[in-house]
Amino acid sequence: MLHQPVRQTSIAEFLQSYQGGGSVHFFSPSLLAAKLAEFQRGFGGLVTFAVKANPTEDVLSTLCHGGLHGFDVASPEEIALARKICPTAALHYNNPVRTRAEVEFGVANGVASWSVDDWDELEKLLARVPEDAEIAVRFKLPVEGAAYNFGAKFGATPPLAAMMLARVAEAGRKPSLTFHVGTQCVDPAAWGQYVGEAAAIAAEAGVTIERLNIGGGFPASRNYRVEMMPFFTAIKEALGAFPVQPTLICEPGRGLVADAFALAVQIKSVRNDCIYLTDGVYGGLSELLSMPAPSFAVLSEKGWRKGPHRPRKAFGPTCDSIDVLRDPLELPIYLDEGDWIVFRSMGAYVTGVTTRFNGYGSIEMVTLDTLDAPF
Ligand SMILES: *Cc1c(COP(=O)(O)O)cnc(C)c1O
Repeated sequence: MLHQPVRQTSIAEFLQSYQGGGSVHFFSPSLLAAKLAEFQRGFGGLVTFAVKANPTEDVLSTLCHGGLHGFDVASPEEIALARKICPTAALHYNNPVRTRAEVEFGVANGVASWSVDDWDELEKLLARVPEDAEIAVRFKLPVEGAAYNFGAKFGATPPLAAMMLARVAEAGRKPSLTFHVGTQCVDPAAWGQYVGEAAAIAAEAGVTIERLNIGGGFPASRNYRVEMMPFFTAIKEALGAFPVQPTLICEPGRGLVADAFALAVQIKSVRNDCIYLTDGVYGGLSELLSMPAPSFAVLSEKGWRKGPHRPRKAFGPTCDSIDVLRDPLELPIYLDEGDWIVFRSMGAYVTGVTTRFNGYGSIEMVTLDTLDAPF
């Protein structure tokens, strides 16, 4: 059950009578269910959701009711949340650095699969996880060959991954491999490259893996106007490199949830080439510190604004000078204080990363059937 009723109104109607002072996060459960169904039809393996992308109860329960059978979790709090909302789903604990207490919490809560990228962390797991647990060695491609290397924080080199995989098998746990291409990756070939490397690592280790977790990283497809099928095809084709094909798992965060939300922020002030917003990089727009803004539409009291555009630098509301979007926004020339900028595909990394710095960061979630705006 959703906490929020689905309101029969449009984004424009809602905002034009809105009295609150913060951002509005519009959620469409039907768009989320449709995206999940697209993954379930096209991916050809177990679809799980990376909880960190949007740890909202209504999101998790919409996915659970849509038939999602697994979650990628990274902390005891995410484990408890996933268990509460979707008690029978499999939990994959894929943050490769954990305290002993965190490992024990995961074991007590029946975590089925654990990722690892380092010897000490592997020994920590082998001493604690049950015989039937899966241990997935997370690897990264060498920087030279990588299509995407978003400052890889985690991942063993392929030679190390092969040695660790052999150790997992020898210790009697279910050996597996995993990787994460990096977020918002629009090139299907990146997955192909990683799947091919996974086959080489398993061969080098002399281990047959039953499952391969190809991570997340899929883009917000509406915003980037990309189809998902080429990604699924690239992954399936690359599986041919395995003598015995493993079952696939994916763990999209953004790819599942981004398109199911829009974020509306209000213009506080227009000053020459600049605008000041009610939300910024300490709040719902934190990703725009380092990424381009998704497409958006601007709403005035009278309706959606059209006409010629010009770039304007967009500042957030706090007094910190880093609180500014990386790229200027191409905004209609005529703008007023009080106008709303409605960003599309804002379901991922918004609510989970918002702070209350300087007294800002209030985001109200509103559930609608569709997200209609001239993006
Ligand atoms: C964050 C994360 C994901 C999800 O990433 P997206 O880019 O949102 O799809 C998947 N797997 C792991 C291990 C992650 O850390």
